[in-house]
Amino acid sequence: MIDSEIKLCNYQRMKTKKFITLFMIAASVTAYSATYKVPGYEKFKSVIILIGDGMTSSHRTLARWYKKDFLAMDRMYRSGILTNSADSMITDSAAAATAFATGCKITSEQLGILPRKNNNLPRIPGIEIEKRCFGEPEKPIATILEAAKIKGKSVGLVSTSEVQDATPAGFSAHINDRDNLTEIAKQQVYQDLDVVFGGGKIYLLPESAGGVRKDEGNLTEVLQGRGYLLINSLDELKDSDINKVWGLFAPEDLAFDMDRREFNLEQPSLVEMTKASLEILDKDPDGFFLMVEGSKIDWAAHDNDPVGVISDLLAFDDAVNAALEFAAENGYTLVLVLSDHGSGGMSIGSKSGGKIPYHTPYEEVFEPLKKARLTSEGVANLIKDYKCDAQKTTGIIEKYYGISDLTPEQLQKICEGNGKKIRKLLGQIISDKSLIGWTTTAHTGEDITMFSNYPIERNSEIKTLFDNTEIALFIEELLDLSLKDANEKLYLNADNLLMSFKEKVDIQKRLEDNFLEIVLVKGENRIQIKFPINTDICILNAGNPKMIFMNGITIFSKTGNAVFIPYEAFGIIKTAVDSLK
Ligand SMILES: [Zn+2]
Repeated sequence: MIDSEIKLCNYQRMKTKKFITLFMIAASVTAYSATYKVPGYEKFKSVIILIGDGMTSSHRTLARWYKKDFLAMDRMYRSGILTNSADSMITDSAAAATAFATGCKITSEQLGILPRKNNNLPRIPGIEIEKRCFGEPEKPIATILEAAKIKGKSVGLVSTSEVQDATPAGFSAHINDRDNLTEIAKQQVYQDLDVVFGGGKIYLLPESAGGVRKDEGNLTEVLQGRGYLLINSLDELKDSDINKVWGLFAPEDLAFDMDRREFNLEQPSLVEMTKASLEILDKDPDGFFLMVEGSKIDWAAHDNDPVGVISDLLAFDDAVNAALEFAAENGYTLVLVLSDHGSGGMSIGSKSGGKIPYHTPYEEVFEPLKKARLTSEGVANLIKDYKCDAQKTTGIIEKYYGISDLTPEQLQKICEGNGKKIRKLLGQIISDKSLIGWTTTAHTGEDITMFSNYPIERNSEIKTLFDNTEIALFIEELLDLSLKDANEKLYLNADNLLMSFKEKVDIQKRLEDNFLEIVLVKGENRIQIKFPINTDICILNAGNPKMIFMNGITIFSKTGNAVFIPYEAFGIIKTAVDSLK
């Protein structure tokens, strides 16, 4: 019922956008007054944040020597970043992305909501967490992307994982479970984003159309109704003057760059997606916010596969180069290259060699790695249908991963193993041959490096060490945004908001799985107002149903049994209350 009502009126969304944007510019106030300054620039208009997920300095050293040339990142200014989440010395990507996006430390594995419990970790003196980061558990907190949108800037997300994965979702979704990709997909679709490129198509489609959505809602139809261009290849952008586009180029994640070049050329590379996004976003005279993630550096590190790390770190660095070239040409663009945490605990040098490594020639590390034409994931995919056919498996692994001396025990493990086990086994074999060590198949808690195209000053001193929460704060200042203002405009507890009208009318409230319904009653007259969860829609029914598009989405917090709606809803309810005579 509610879905068909939404579908009917989605086409109106495009018409209202400009009005809302202009209104919000007039109404926004800058509140934050820290002093991050960049010499030579009073104000940046746009920001490109590139996140190499799980990337460490060892990963960069390995990729640089593999390439035998400097990385684009090497040309940038460096600072350190502390990575812990609210409840863990070792963060996951969801809490890390939320820290970058909101300036708040939150519980690991949650996205864009206040922490479940207070931070029990020790504090480093001088790292202050803002007041808005404390409050009712799981209340949504506005992100820097949402603050940019409120300021009238265009916004974009690019990733090589599913776009619903933790890092892009940290900037665009508010939920207590990062694995709920179908709900994250819905929030992103209704977030009025301008450019979205990556993987994860199945999370937009119902099961009947080859997707995984059980609600049978087809979010690609919602996007079409809202005037988006939906593309399957970047070629479809040529000669198009459209400013709003979604391109999901794989059912789930995109292939590793090395595997893509060999077998998945229909998929765009990260640098191609980055350049295409910049071309579209740059049309906005108000500037833009773009987040680009090299997602699978982390995935390769989880598999302990050095080939995958090199593959996607170099592809990520190409995207960094494109961002730097854009900034050099266009000016007024801040480029930040971040990692969210370490992954894999990789070292160049390992215990497996069993010798003192101080006379290690280049070839000893890189010859085994250079024989690989695919990542361990690419190889595992190739052999999955005949993994117990020793002859075939041996041939493929030798041709594509350069290993020609598999033992009978290793072949047995491949025969018995699933994809994940095979990826890890192959990674371990090539690592042992290349003197590469790994301490874990999960994340690590050390500082990571931030790169910027300008040095960041605070109180006239170059700032060299940041907490991950401070990234949001200095983007906020340099782009003249306000997270506090965005927070106050976007996420208000509906119960608190309704309190203001209790004296004037009777209010009935009904909370269902997918909507909040409010009925205002005065004598014989009643007005029904519905807020479908995870959408920016408000349906006002005072005789004739009328669709209103708000500047933010409605979020339901299961833990608090509370609904959060944009401040704009206050005006809608007030007008309705006043009309009830
Ligand atoms: Zn991560």
